Amino acid sequence: MAIIPIRTMPDPILRQKARRVKSIDKSIDKLIDEMIETMHSASGVGLAAPQVGVPLRVIVIGIPEEEELALINPQIVRRMGERLVNEGCLSIPGYFAQVHRAEQVRAKGLDRTGKEIRLRADDLLAQALEHEIDHLNGVLYVDYLESMDELQPVEPTSTEPLV
Ligand SMILES: [Zn+2]
Repeated sequence: MAIIPIRTMPDPILRQKARRVKSIDKSIDKLIDEMIETMHSASGVGLAAPQVGVPLRVIVIGIPEEEELALINPQIVRRMGERLVNEGCLSIPGYFAQVHRAEQVRAKGLDRTGKEIRLRADDLLAQALEHEIDHLNGVLYVDYLESMDELQPVEPTSTEPLV
């Protein structure tokens, strides 16, 4: 396993639409292991494959105190409610901003064995699912801002989630 360098804006891979995974083989298993290790080493709570230079629809999420979640070809099935949250991104280091996210989402995808998983999420998990699936579509949270002036510098003591 290895930690993979995280791509940062304006790397063009962050703007590509990632491809669906057609078969879950050993290379996908290895990618997921490396993404989980990379996410933890960067103190992130989520990571999408394009952030490590792989244009495939694979995400990992690691909410503190919970088991990591890896989803292949994930989709948001339903969004419910709206709330304003602080959000940062490992690919836009040093900043965070307030963005609108759903209060609850329903999502589905495949786990690393190819089994379909359906989940209902709120709080940080819902936010991370929306953020990571956006990455697979080439969307970054700054796209939701009216101006880059809304970005705020991250303080050393800040606790904004990095995804
Ligand atoms: Zn991100």
